[in-house]
Amino acid sequence: GVEVSGLSKNFGTQRVLKDISLTVKPGEIFTIMGPSGSGKSVLLRQIAGLDQPTKGTARINGLDPADPDTRDRFAIALVFQAGALFNSISVYDNLALYLLEHRLCPKKEMRDRVMRALKILSLENAVKKFPSELSGGMKKRVAIARALVMEPQLLLYDEPTSELDPVMSATITEIIATLKTEFNVTSIVVSHDRDLALTISDRVALLMKGELRALCSPAELRKVEDPAVKDFLNPTI
Ligand code: ATP
Ligand code: MG
Repeated sequence: GVEVSGLSKNFGTQRVLKDISLTVKPGEIFTIMGPSGSGKSVLLRQIAGLDQPTKGTARINGLDPADPDTRDRFAIALVFQAGALFNSISVYDNLALYLLEHRLCPKKEMRDRVMRALKILSLENAVKKFPSELSGGMKKRVAIARALVMEPQLLLYDEPTSELDPVMSATITEIIATLKTEFNVTSIVVSHDRDLALTISDRVALLMKGELRALCSPAELRKVEDPAVKDFLNPTI
């Protein structure tokens, strides 16, 4: 599981995260929602070990996520907001790179793993293309496929369905749910997407101005009386 305790993050004098504590259980889909600028991506980066908290800790099965051994051991995969694909190599090579670097499997098995991930995301036709030739939504799917190739135990997504049409959003949402039911993958998903958050999540955290405003199941979230929470869920515009 993932454990965040007493975590605060400042950038200069700006307090971006204020004393966040939460745990994510193995196999859970845990969604972090909140307005733009509330600190969601910063929180995910602390959990991913890409950045150090000012105070408090994030731990993955008790280990420091900033330690590369932790990342490899639990095959932690990140699907981040700006897809971060390598533009000078093909989609196939983008997916194969991690396996090559870590010498995880023979060539034949590597090809099978890559093709399986591409098929799950309906990207078979993009295998020889370069990232510059793809639409935004396709790049996003390639980024998810690349994470799947790692066969991760923990997947961290930052806005996996943004910039996608409703059909593709539903597909991605379904994939996240399938990874849980079929492979017991633990997922932490930062998302504005209420459909995603309220349908597939086991629990939802609502972040506002760097503070945890709510942390509960989707059903409980709908019943929260806090006006700020109600307003966020049902904006009156
Ligand atoms: P969005 O929904 O728009 O992606 P968010 O909730 O993910 O928003 P964050 O990216 O976590 O928001 O940013 C929270 C705050 O922290 C913002 O005010 C942002 O300007 C600030 N911030 C984020 N990263 C840095 C950084 N590296 N240096 C300084 N300030 C930062
Ligand atoms: Mg963000």
